[in-house]
Amino acid sequence: MIPNISTIPLIQLASGDQLFIQSYQFTGENPGKKVYLQSNLHGAEISGNAVIQDLINFLITLDKTQLTGEILLVPVCNPLGVNQRSHYFSSGRYNLYDGKDWNRIFWDYEKTGANISQFAQDNQDLEQNEIQAKYRQTILNQFHQLAKLIRSYPGVSYDNYYRYQLQNLALDADYVIDLHSSTNNALDYLYCFHSQEASANAFLLDTGILMNDYDGDAFDEAFMKPWLALERELAKLGKNIRFEIESWTVELGSGLEMNPESVQKGIRGIKNYLATKGLLSIKDFPVDFTPNHRIHLTPKDKIQRYYSPAGGMIKFYVKLGETIYKNQKLYTILSFNKIGELPQIREIFAEGDGLIFDITKNHSVNQWDYVLGVMPS
Ligand SMILES: [Zn+2]
Repeated sequence: MIPNISTIPLIQLASGDQLFIQSYQFTGENPGKKVYLQSNLHGAEISGNAVIQDLINFLITLDKTQLTGEILLVPVCNPLGVNQRSHYFSSGRYNLYDGKDWNRIFWDYEKTGANISQFAQDNQDLEQNEIQAKYRQTILNQFHQLAKLIRSYPGVSYDNYYRYQLQNLALDADYVIDLHSSTNNALDYLYCFHSQEASANAFLLDTGILMNDYDGDAFDEAFMKPWLALERELAKLGKNIRFEIESWTVELGSGLEMNPESVQKGIRGIKNYLATKGLLSIKDFPVDFTPNHRIHLTPKDKIQRYYSPAGGMIKFYVKLGETIYKNQKLYTILSFNKIGELPQIREIFAEGDGLIFDITKNHSVNQWDYVLGVMPS
């Protein structure tokens, strides 16, 4: 299968050079679902690029008959963020123009003032696939109003232009997968919306975070939130529908590196997910034990995050991936002072039992800096 490669201009720099994004579109013999997959939205989170590269190499070896539907891949999807540096380090989490997190800028149909309740009432008697098609078209029509703004140059800012280009590739998809990593050192896990729990197992990851608090500004949220809103409105009318529309953020290990194990887990999980959803007919997938695999999901508001109570240098007594117990020593902070006293060592103990899934790369901390995250057991 040969992909259709499209190059989309994003921004011309002061030097005259230009930045682009490039998509790789694989189209199967028969029509079906569309999956959209992107990586490296945050500049330091590079493992997903290796996953997409591997998927491209793999899909090229397949016959068109082995794909039903469409797979659209966009690696290094945020060139400005990817190229950004502080010293040698990729900082690229925030847009330097306006300080906004690159993953909190996206267009959410629900926030346009759309009357989703009215839509549900007007269309509740249609078949599920008809409701889905009509609602999708309604979202797309509204989204393309943005295009008018984009075309009315110079009336557009870069963040508006950029989000339009990315979401334009993704909004008509059935499944959206956004590949991230931690900015720190972290395990592999995913973010899961309510009602998608069963599908989450197909990624074959051990842990995940169940979203219970979100505003629709992140890429996965902006895609999914309007569909969840429609499901809620239909449920109020006694019509319990779950649309076959899903959105995922998959966190592949640590930032600033392409850890081979995280990359392998990413590839295996995505192949398994796509085979489970019927897009790919490939050897060995879905893996036999998929029906028995259970991801452990922790509600987002139950995650325990430790912030440093003092400024100084950290020495850890625990490791990433370790199960910890209440009152166990987690780390010490070496703090110097300017009041004529000797330096102090302060000990920090666990507030409860759980799994360390995320831990700071930088062992030098200012007071209140993030130190580590725990999924309670
Ligand atoms: Zn990220």
